[in-house]
Amino acid sequence: MTVYAAGTILTLKKAHPCGSKQWEVLRPGWEYRLRCVGCGHILLMRREDLLKAVKKVTGGAP
Ligand SMILES: [Zn+2]
Repeated sequence: MTVYAAGTILTLKKAHPCGSKQWEVLRPGWEYRLRCVGCGHILLMRREDLLKAVKKVTGGAP
């Protein structure tokens, strides 16, 4: 099972309305809490949806 640790930067396939595609993991779990790197917006996303949306992983634990 893939777990993205807190602090990991995830690049998603779809851009946020602010233009950023990068999100920082604040809290992993069945529902991830993510913060938009561009505008600071906080979002909850179900893990299964997140796994499908991730394009690139930067930093965090392997
Ligand atoms: Zn944003």
